[in-house]
Parts: sequence; structure tokens; C-alpha cells
Amino acid sequence: MVATVVQTFPLAQQRQFFATGQTKSFEFRRAQLLKLRESILKYQDEAIAALGQDLRKPEFEARFEMIALVNEIDYALKHLKTWLKPKKATLSLIQLPGKAYQLPEPLGVVLIIGPWNFPFSLALQPLVGAIAAGNCAIVKPSELAPATSQVTAKVIRATFPENYLAAIEGGIETSQALLAEKFDHIFFTGGTAVGKIVMAAAAKHLTPVTLELGGKSPCIVDQNIDLKETAKRIIWGRFLNAGQICIAPDYLLVAASIQENLLKEMAACIREFYGDDPQTSPDYPRLISDRHWQRTAELLNQGEIYYGGHTNRGDRYIEPTIILNPDLTAPIMQEEIFGPILPVLTYDNLEEAITFIQSRPKPLALYIFSRSRDCRQQILTQTSSGGVCINDTVMHVGIDTLPFGGVGDSGMGAYHGKASFDTFTHYKSVLQKGFRFDLQWRYAPYAKNLPLLKQLFRSN
Ligand code: NAD
Repeated sequence: MVATVVQTFPLAQQRQFFATGQTKSFEFRRAQLLKLRESILKYQDEAIAALGQDLRKPEFEARFEMIALVNEIDYALKHLKTWLKPKKATLSLIQLPGKAYQLPEPLGVVLIIGPWNFPFSLALQPLVGAIAAGNCAIVKPSELAPATSQVTAKVIRATFPENYLAAIEGGIETSQALLAEKFDHIFFTGGTAVGKIVMAAAAKHLTPVTLELGGKSPCIVDQNIDLKETAKRIIWGRFLNAGQICIAPDYLLVAASIQENLLKEMAACIREFYGDDPQTSPDYPRLISDRHWQRTAELLNQGEIYYGGHTNRGDRYIEPTIILNPDLTAPIMQEEIFGPILPVLTYDNLEEAITFIQSRPKPLALYIFSRSRDCRQQILTQTSSGGVCINDTVMHVGIDTLPFGGVGDSGMGAYHGKASFDTFTHYKSVLQKGFRFDLQWRYAPYAKNLPLLKQLFRSN
């Protein structure tokens, strides 16, 4: 007989601790954010080594991730006091005297499920918001980055008691067992297909969700650009983390008149960044698993290879590759690529490119390269996406004052900076009255007051 292991989670303990009210004070939240900051700094070298093990992530990129994470904590620390203040609301004459405000209160016990592509920071960054907002939390890092999952769990377990913040490691079964429980909020980062599973599970308990999903983020390149800068910024954004980034430019829509020159510049950039043989470059990561390698390698046959195309299964390596005339009905143009392949399409007039984007699910990011204000404006007003970055790629993700999230198929809700605090907060609407004055006309019997009410409406 095969024994099934039943996993238990410290949910009841967290509920008990939350009920004590300790997580709510400014001092408590601030102290926990400081502890998390200290712990990340303490374990950052272990995390960087783990990222190297899981993804062959270059140290430069891994350190950058640590800086971004610590920056998110510092931003929360700087603004926490202000965020905790009640938000005043105005009252109509009829409600006076009195006062109205929104009181931010924590949601309770929340679940955070992380992905493997930035397995450390995307498990811990939402946690910053959960702590700042005064919640208890369970974090499940991705099993596909096992070394990083261990360090992420270590950071949490070494720093916090599990009746406040806990890390649960495991794969799909663990994730599903967690999703079967009732939480006060679920924050999920991952693919659109799993996002639907998460939302269906959450619906059973009427649990609100934030879904940070992916999709095919288009990049429109107008003819009016700086060719070298455009090529550099596209190649950087597409091949960073070997293309395994939710907001990587997934495909290009290029003005036909500049396609040839742009292709040449982009090929030159790949050589400049990663050398003639990127497999030997210390700056070029690998795909996360054999399964992901297989899926991505198959995409190489779905168009004409303009540059790259070399692979090595044993090393989970796929060369940075540019593809022309991709098959629009094949997975390369139907699914998020999430690997180091850049399909290039051309357009003769901008409307064509816009119609193409409008006919597809709403993406997480949209990129526009153009000096023309009219061109940019036309795209901005006629397309919908989680975010937009003009004349650059990926950089918009790191702005504390811009909420980050998707729309439609690319997700719901947003976080980063104040948006993270808001995601894990319920703004309780409060009306406060005194006893001294009261408008008597709202009370029955109504007959005597009806004419006045009618009169009021007429004069409106
Ligand atoms: P994934 O959806 O496969 O997995 C994410 C998490 O869900 C993991 O922790 C995994 O254990 C769990 N999971 C997987 N299958 C499950 C199931 N059937 N039931 C319950 N839980 C399950 O995503 P991934 O492959 O780790 O990440 C890649 C995807 O995430 C891409 O689509 C990418 O665009 C997206 N992503 C989005 C963002 C963002 O901020 N919007 C950031 C990073 C990645």
C-alpha cells in the first residue's frame, strides 16, 4: 500500500495570531520589514548562488534583483506611516454634521504562490506588501527552481515564527492542497492557464485574488527611431534571463521600411552582448528544465531562422534566435514564448499593427519605439495592455510609483510600492456621527415629509 503524505499548514495558528491584533501596529509592521531586509542581505549570497544553480543566472542580474527587492522594502518603510493614515472623505450637506473616512485594515491570512523565473524576488516582493499591510502569510516558492526555493524558505523560517509568516515548499500537489484552504487573499504569479485554476479554487471560498500572469507582449517599431538604441534595448529585454521574463517583448511588429536595417543591428547586438558563441558566455542563462527546453526548441521550426538557432539539449541551451515569417497559427505566435526566441513581423501602415494587437488577448506589456508623438498616441489610445513602455523595454517594472499588473488574460490587480500595500489592504469605509443634531424628516410617518422630498428632487 502506498502511504499518502497529508501536508498540514499553520493556518489555524496564523489565524489565532492575527486575531491578537499584534500585526496591526505601525511599530510591528516596521520591525518586520526591517527584519526581512536584514535577512535578505544576510542570505543574498546564498540566493545568488542558488539562482546560478537553477538558471545559470549571471551574478550581475542576480545582484540587481536583490537591489530591487531591498528597494521595495525601503520604499514601504519610507511611506508606511502615511499609508496607515485614514483617508478622509467629503460628506454631502445632508450627512452633516459628521465625518467620513476610509480606514486601512489588513485582510488576515494570505497566500502567495511564486513562479520559477525570478524565484527569489517574485516570492518575497509580494510578501513586502503583505507585511506592510499587517497580514499573516504563507509563501509557496516554485518547485522548478529547487535551490532558490530552499533559500527563500530559509530566509522566511530563519526570520519569522511560522504562526506569523511561513514558507511551504512543494510542487503542484502542495499548491493545490494550499488552494483548497480558505485564505483572505491569494496572490499568484505564474501562467494564465494555472491562473484560471487558482481563481476557480479561490471562488469556492469567495477569496479575492491578484493574478500576475503573462502573455504575448508586442513591440511596435516605427520607422522614426534611433536604430542602434532601439536594437540594443530590444535585444537586452528579449534575451535577459534567456527570454524567461513575463514582460519580455514577445514579438516585433516592425515598419517594413526599416526591417532590414533593424535586423542587422539586432544581430550585431547579440554578438556584442554574448559573443559569437553565447553558450560560452557567462552572461547568458539556461532554460529552467528539460521540459521547457523541449517546448522552446520546437518553436524554432515555426518560422525562418534569421539569426541563431543553435541548441544543446544536455546543457538546456538555446541560442538567442531571431525568426522571420513565423507561422501565425503555430504555438510560436499563439502562446507566450518565454524563451530566447524573437519572431519579427512587418507592417506597412500602423493601423495593420494595431488591428493585429487588438485581435489578440490583452498583453501584460506593450512596447512602442517611435519619435513620433502621433504614432505613440495612436497606439496608446487604441490598444489595451497591463503597462506600456515607450522607447525602452522591461524598465517600467522597476518604478515604485507605477503599479505593476495585467489586464484581461494577462492578469488582475497590481502591486509594487503603494499598490502592494493596497493589494493586501481592505479600506473600510466609516461614517461617524454625533448625537447633537439630527434631520428628523427621514423618520416615519413619511406622509408629512413626502412633499419636501418631491420638492427637493424637482429642484435638482
Ligand atoms: P506556473 O503557472 O507554471 O507556476 C506558478 C506556480 O503555480 C508554481 O509555484 C507552481 O507550483 C504552481 N502551480 C503550477 N501548476 C499548478 C496547478 N495545476 N495547480 C496549482 N498550482 C500550480 O508558472 P511558471 O511556469 O512558474 O512561470 C511562468 C509564467 O509566469 C509565465 O507565463 C510568465 O509570464 C508568468 N509570470 C508572470 C509574472 C508577472 O509578474 N505578471 C512574473 C513572472 C512570471
